[in-house]
Amino acid sequence: MARVHNFNAGPAGLPLPALERAQRELLDFEGTGMSIMEHSHRGKAFEAVHNEAISLLRQLLGLSDDYHVLFMQGGAAMQFAVVPMNLLPPGRSADYILTGGWSEKALEEAKRVGTVRVAGSTAVDKRYTRIPHQGELSLDPNAAYVHMTTNNTLFGTQWHWLPDTGDVPLVADMSSDILWRKMDISRFALVYAGAQKNIGPSGITVVLARKDLVDSARKDIPVIFRYATYAANNSLYNTPPTFAIYLMRNVLAYTLEIGGLEEVERRNRKKGELLYETIDAHPDVFRAPVEKESRSFMNVVFRLASEEMEKRFVAEAAKEGMVGLAGHRSTGGIRVSIYNAVPVASVERLTAFMRDFAKRG
Ligand code: PMP
Repeated sequence: MARVHNFNAGPAGLPLPALERAQRELLDFEGTGMSIMEHSHRGKAFEAVHNEAISLLRQLLGLSDDYHVLFMQGGAAMQFAVVPMNLLPPGRSADYILTGGWSEKALEEAKRVGTVRVAGSTAVDKRYTRIPHQGELSLDPNAAYVHMTTNNTLFGTQWHWLPDTGDVPLVADMSSDILWRKMDISRFALVYAGAQKNIGPSGITVVLARKDLVDSARKDIPVIFRYATYAANNSLYNTPPTFAIYLMRNVLAYTLEIGGLEEVERRNRKKGELLYETIDAHPDVFRAPVEKESRSFMNVVFRLASEEMEKRFVAEAAKEGMVGLAGHRSTGGIRVSIYNAVPVASVERLTAFMRDFAKRG
């Protein structure tokens, strides 16, 4: 079996043991004579998997009982609309901090629902190369919430501190760095993340929501979009994506097995350091546009001297079994996504290739 070194930005590589478990269990899930996909979402077999996924998330994050764990569909992009539908009542305004293309999209969608303000932006000529400082933010103390994107998948920047929003609830799109290390969720009122980068396949969106916020959310929106509906029905109001939840369960169980988020962080820091060291060691060949304090440990972006060189870099790496290295179509360049499931060995292989590429010129 030839598995590649997968640096895809999402959907991304999954831990091999989580996939192998799915393979073993595919045709006959725990002696039930059918796959988990063929079970009713209201049956015991699936419900156990569903509840295990929820409790694994709680355990890995050390999440308090003040929070609901909700499973929704429609991706993080649907949350761009669902967040303001629930949390932005008429007569109030919400603050958005812009740090990349995804926060821009979140803002644009919220504008269709209610009144929004830009509370800070680090855009220069439509590009983002850093995270703002607290002093640069102009936060409205009466805002319904402040929205931020903790990791900017396209531009390769990541928040390494959290803004002080006072009593205003902090809402975060954590799609591309949820569970990348131990994190204190109590700093957030609501977190959402599409699973397809760090915690599972596409098709499932995890929402961690403070209970009081869900209780006080708007009730004048369709039932299917209310966080309260998911909370009241253990995310089983309608048929959930059962296989995606099952596979996420496998990924989370494996994450716990290898030592939880402490071990995950150790590996992720090692991978990021290896890559940035290699980039910085060859400034004549590789150029990292992101300010050092804002560098992402999930998406490492860099440029070469020309687009032609970048194409050659991607093509030669692919020949050696390293895939997913072309930057997003809107930004160009090289992007190495090193989510939780990417082994340190894959990054060692890539940095050896980079050193060799730099030597050859
Ligand atoms: N937010 C961020 C930070 C993302 O990286 C992405 C997807 N790459 C999205 C939102 C959109 O997610 P989805 O495709 O799951 O709607």
